[in-house]
Amino acid sequence: MANIFPESDMKRREFCRSVLATSVAAAIPGQHLIAGESQCSSELLSTVQAITASGKETTLGVAAVKELKDSLRGSLLLNGDDGYDHARAVWNAMINKRPALIARCEGPTDVVNSINFARANSLRVSVRGGGHSISGKSVCELMIDMSNMNSVRVNGRAATASADGGCLEGHIDRETSLVGLATTGGIVSHTGAAGLTLGGGYGRLCRKFGLACDNLIGADIVTVDGTFRHVSNDENPELLWALKGGGGNFGVVTALEYQLHTQNPMVTAGDLVFDWADARNVLSFYAEYGNELPDELNMNVTLLTTADGERRIAVEAVWSGNPKDADKALGTLRSVAKPLADTVKMIPYTSFQKRGDNSNRHGIRQYMKSGLVSDFSEALVDEVIEIYRPNPMANFFFMQAGGAVSRVKPTDTAFPHRSAHCNMMCWNKWFDPETNKQRAQRIADVKADWAILEPFTHGFYVNLNDDSEKKTHSNYGSNYGRLVEVKNKYDPTNLLKLNANIQPTIKS
Ligand SMILES: Cc1cc2nc3c(=O)[nH]c(=O)nc-3n(C[C@H](O)[C@H](O)[C@H](O)COP(=O)(O)OP(=O)(O)OC[C@H]3O[C@@H](n4cnc5c(N)ncnc54)[C@H](O)[C@@H]3O)c2cc1C
Repeated sequence: MANIFPESDMKRREFCRSVLATSVAAAIPGQHLIAGESQCSSELLSTVQAITASGKETTLGVAAVKELKDSLRGSLLLNGDDGYDHARAVWNAMINKRPALIARCEGPTDVVNSINFARANSLRVSVRGGGHSISGKSVCELMIDMSNMNSVRVNGRAATASADGGCLEGHIDRETSLVGLATTGGIVSHTGAAGLTLGGGYGRLCRKFGLACDNLIGADIVTVDGTFRHVSNDENPELLWALKGGGGNFGVVTALEYQLHTQNPMVTAGDLVFDWADARNVLSFYAEYGNELPDELNMNVTLLTTADGERRIAVEAVWSGNPKDADKALGTLRSVAKPLADTVKMIPYTSFQKRGDNSNRHGIRQYMKSGLVSDFSEALVDEVIEIYRPNPMANFFFMQAGGAVSRVKPTDTAFPHRSAHCNMMCWNKWFDPETNKQRAQRIADVKADWAILEPFTHGFYVNLNDDSEKKTHSNYGSNYGRLVEVKNKYDPTNLLKLNANIQPTIKS
């Protein structure tokens, strides 16, 4: 993973402290305030120091920054403003970056104006949706904050939904379930839908309906030249193809249009928790037969340690088919070993989608590694069981793929990894601030496990990994060349590089 505590941040923090001490907090005139939000912004009395896309320090003039601020319907936050610390905080509390400017966009025009400002000033720019990028890619000099753009419009007759670019997964689940429809969304409801979908989008319905990106049928996007474009199979189709897995490389997405599917709002779901003595059998079963079970059955497996130090293996099972067939579908798993606990029951899908919200709440600290497993061999099962040591902070997690995900051709979307059985993850996560020594040890532990497990992976999920350009290139395989063509066309100077970066090969 990239260094999450860049030196330039520390330097600028010092700089901002001295320069912005001269700023005076004052309320912005009415039209800049969002209803219900009490917010002040600094009267700009001083220039703002920032870092350019190429890493150089630059000074933004008072007039230029004021012009940007006045051009927004939303607010522009600077260090010292009310709301600045809240807006710069992202999910992983280990990320502690201080943007020079945070543009809290209220609509596509705010995005256009922010992008134009970033381009004109050659600023490093990031896009924040749900803030779940574990390595903090959504925070930098000019942070385009989409989180206030979060409404969802469902067209029940056409079975489609249009979600604004700052929507969270829970916003979409909530509105679509109202009319008995759903699309694949992530397993934690406060994850940003745009970030998740643009990189791929695994979830509890993906074996049935495909990845979130497979259900993306259109989008509105502001490309780095400041143009607002609609994207569909008929309009800019190569851009739609690239948005289905190519991440945030091509512009700021202001709306996503999804295909929806009929889905019973009630699912049959819960955990089967097994004793560690049964872990090998359970994992072998998952590896060998998991993906042969019906598409309506999704199983995510966690190796965990209880507070009193006991290891367990837990299978989260979600049956999204006809409830009367649930027991049959789960029968084989239940026959592998006798679970210590079996909490599977009928439950609203939207409630189940929130079950991990608290254990994955904002402010957590996490370091993780992950990769896609195509061949879940007995050798991998052996290694996993062998190396998982009792540690309540550590989990190995297997997020299932297969089913509808694997029936899409690797070249049909930018997301190429169609033969993966599951996404294997290994992390340490904790809630309390740590000492440097503790942090280093926790990161080292994950890296040590990953050194053993990584050789069993084939590629990675770009939404979870921060890898070099070389690795990103090989990860996209034969789709990379086509992605470069789209990047050359829509972001030839690589203004948007805080992502699994597709490097353009021409300069405009
Ligand atoms: C707790 C947790 C649970 C997760 N669960 C799942 C899961 O179930 N399934 C899954 O597939 N992944 C999951 N992920 C990974 C998740 O898909 C990525 O972290 C994703 O990038 C999150 O998007 P975000 O908007 O929340 O993040 P942010 O940090 O806000 O954004 C991350 C990146 O997404 C891009 N981006 C975001 N919004 C836009 C936009 N409007 N336009 C253009 N680019 C944009 C940008 O490149 C940005 O740097 C999870 C991550 C966490 C931390």
